[in-house]
Amino acid sequence: MGEYSIALDSRDDDANVNFVSHAHTDHISGLRKNKKALASEITKDIVESRSGLSMELMEEPECVELLNAGHMLGSRQLFVQNDLHGYSILYSGDYQMDEPVLAEKLETKRADVLIVDSTYPYPEVKFDDKNEVIDAIQFYARKKTERGHVVFGAYTVGRAQELVKILNDAGMVPAVDEKIAAVNEVYRKHGARLEYVPIERPEDSAIVVVGQSKLAAVREAIMAKSIKKVYTAVASGWSKIFRFDTDVQFNLSDHADFSQALDYINACSPRIVFTFGSNARLFAKHLAMRGYDARPLVYTSEVNALMLNYI
Ligand SMILES: [Zn+2]
Repeated sequence: MGEYSIALDSRDDDANVNFVSHAHTDHISGLRKNKKALASEITKDIVESRSGLSMELMEEPECVELLNAGHMLGSRQLFVQNDLHGYSILYSGDYQMDEPVLAEKLETKRADVLIVDSTYPYPEVKFDDKNEVIDAIQFYARKKTERGHVVFGAYTVGRAQELVKILNDAGMVPAVDEKIAAVNEVYRKHGARLEYVPIERPEDSAIVVVGQSKLAAVREAIMAKSIKKVYTAVASGWSKIFRFDTDVQFNLSDHADFSQALDYINACSPRIVFTFGSNARLFAKHLAMRGYDARPLVYTSEVNALMLNYI
């Protein structure tokens, strides 16, 4: 990109701009070195309220476009038209093909090079139908709160807000911990309708959403004071792969599974695919077996070198 060198959701000492696709903590490490960022306003607000890091949003240069990623509120993909070398690059960040619970729906765009997130590289893992999962969460929460307490453990940013929304849509107002409440407020500032109350005495709450690390302690606290049964629950894409230590687990994901990733790649119709993030090698291997020109991205400088050979 000539005068800009962009770090993708990571720390890159040679970069002068960070692209922060969304506010999950594993995507903001570049900001510790350099505050200048391409990101959405919502991402900036969430990151600043949670991490204490400050972000300086830069105006998008003409050759850059931020596209909705459908992952969490404010999540974006980065599209760059590299006029110098005559090809375009799209970086997905974390993305979701399904209709998101709260995020802005994903937009796809054709690009010569696609750098695609590799969180779920497993062809045999197929996520459950999202509407059925949402119905199941609402049914479980209604049923179990008739005579007991339900405690959900969730990622503080993103998943917790989705659960609040899903419960609200079923007529329930959950109690949430302080950190979740702070993120809820940023979501509300940006237009999401979320109804919740702060958790004070957990034993007084029929339905609770807390950070995953607090789940066991909150369960114990309620059990010590209430005669009613306490049910624990988690909602995660990983429920297809791992058994969580809870009474029930729902397959609610804000990522694409393997077959959805193929749909996404086909929609972007790239000449070359770089897989990015954890499991990048495995994902590239499975894509290559299906005829894609795919390889794991190790250094971003590789992209340009490779594309110059290509064109
Ligand atoms: Zn994420």
